[in-house]
Amino acid sequence: MDEKVIVCPNCDGVNIETKKILTATGEINRYICIMCGYYTQDDFVYENKKTIDECLPRLYRDLCKLSKETELFWYPIIMDYSNLVILFPDGTNVDDWQWCVAPYEVIPKEERSKYPIQGKANEYHSHRVSLKHSQHYNKDNFISAMTFLNFLLKDTNWYEKSIFGRNL
Ligand SMILES: [Zn+2]
Repeated sequence: MDEKVIVCPNCDGVNIETKKILTATGEINRYICIMCGYYTQDDFVYENKKTIDECLPRLYRDLCKLSKETELFWYPIIMDYSNLVILFPDGTNVDDWQWCVAPYEVIPKEERSKYPIQGKANEYHSHRVSLKHSQHYNKDNFISAMTFLNFLLKDTNWYEKSIFGRNL
């Protein structure tokens, strides 16, 4: 049996969470370093790098790390729990960025026309990321960012109870 240990190229950590995900080409593994927040998956290989990078902002491309053992490319993760909360790397360059955890807020009806859903006529987003209510964590402190994210997700009524929620 292949007992190869996955090592994170960003922090050298071996505390890696493996998840099966479904892609257009079938089921593959995604690996998340729970120490530093970097992740990769079986198809993050050299041949696909250009396509992956095209969808990513400059900061994420610059933060990319190559694992010499597996030849997979690793990126800082984005965890988007749609309409609830999002965690993402926020900053201007590799030396100046932090983890950001931000709740979604309901967009008041009168403002929704400013948030059209791409590719859909007359459909608008109901929620937007509330940067005003976000929390930032040092880039070396992914664990605290995750703790706050999980705290917000654990209470399923958090959104309704919070000051961010408003009646639709
Ligand atoms: Zn790591």
